Amino acid sequence: PRVVFSGIQPTGIPHLGNYLGALSNWVKLQKTAAPEDELLFSIVGWHALTLPQDPKTLSDSRMDMLATLLAIGIDPKRSILFHQDQNQNHTELAWILSCLAPMGKLQRMTTWKAKLAASRNANDESEVDESLLNVGLFTYPILQAADIMVYKATHIPVGEDQKQHLELAKNLADTFNRAYKAGVFPSPHLVTTPCCRILSLKDPTSKMSKSAPDTASRVLLTDTFSAISLKIKASVTDSLGPITYDPILRPGTSNLLTILAACVDEDVHSVAGRYEGKGHEALKGDVAEAIEKMIEGPRLEFERIRGERGYLEEVARDGALRARERSEETMREVRATVGLP
Ligand code: ATP
Ligand code: MG
Repeated sequence: PRVVFSGIQPTGIPHLGNYLGALSNWVKLQKTAAPEDELLFSIVGWHALTLPQDPKTLSDSRMDMLATLLAIGIDPKRSILFHQDQNQNHTELAWILSCLAPMGKLQRMTTWKAKLAASRNANDESEVDESLLNVGLFTYPILQAADIMVYKATHIPVGEDQKQHLELAKNLADTFNRAYKAGVFPSPHLVTTPCCRILSLKDPTSKMSKSAPDTASRVLLTDTFSAISLKIKASVTDSLGPITYDPILRPGTSNLLTILAACVDEDVHSVAGRYEGKGHEALKGDVAEAIEKMIEGPRLEFERIRGERGYLEEVARDGALRARERSEETMREVRATVGLP
């Protein structure tokens, strides 16, 4: 049987990139899974702390994320839906794994390298602004590995940007098994969606992100049609004439085509073919409509569920209980294996 695990940070309402790159796949896996397959979906609060968070906002975002996941169709009876920060087994395993993880591997993580580059003084490359770099930012891929391994997960539906972190998790599973000559952990596999890496609407050289400061750079799953239309109309494209699909020369335009193709579940080249000789206005109008069609249902459901405080708390309590129980089996084995029963 497969054990599916994935997580999302409570750093804001999910956007189109999260949905098309990961969340829609969670729902699909839930539908296609065999009865004996296990599914675990987690809101990973500890990961959010790697960047400064306002406590009240974080606390609200946790609840909103739970409501969003329910709204898109995660069924808490079929899947274990839970807050990572309510299961200490994740941090216990993360510590054990961090004692097996080579520094050099973590230093080669592109997410870390990007943070390091961003903290470097423009005039003096060797000068680093240390206030921007915390140890958690450096080691969180280990916590991510623990999130996966603590359930012995085998299938990990995450977006493109998480490939390297999943490689680390595979590595750590293998390192643990070899260090202790024990077959405790299975190797986790990446499960990608046919789609894609969705780019920022304002800077199509970087990915769409929940935590990017410019809110016009992303379409949220809870945006109304008028908000969607405004953001898509104002998105950065190019002045290279009629629409063509060319991700290198025309990242903004191609990003819109990618979004449209994913919304209508078609190949991006055949979608692009329909815009031969047409301009950005026609494309942008169609993109906004296709997004609305896809997210209208989840948006309405979100608005309904977020008011049901009692239900949300019950789902969280039940999820935490099941997650703890499930991971405790692994941890008993791990503790015994390392000699700390
Ligand atoms: P943050 O900026 O706070 O890191 P995020 O938008 O990157 O937020 P995460 O919570 O880090 O979201 O990731 C949740 C899931 O969404 C992951 O599986 C990740 O791979 C996927 N994902 C994030 N951004 C995109 C994107 N632009 N396109 C496709 N998938 C994405
Ligand atoms: Mg992210």
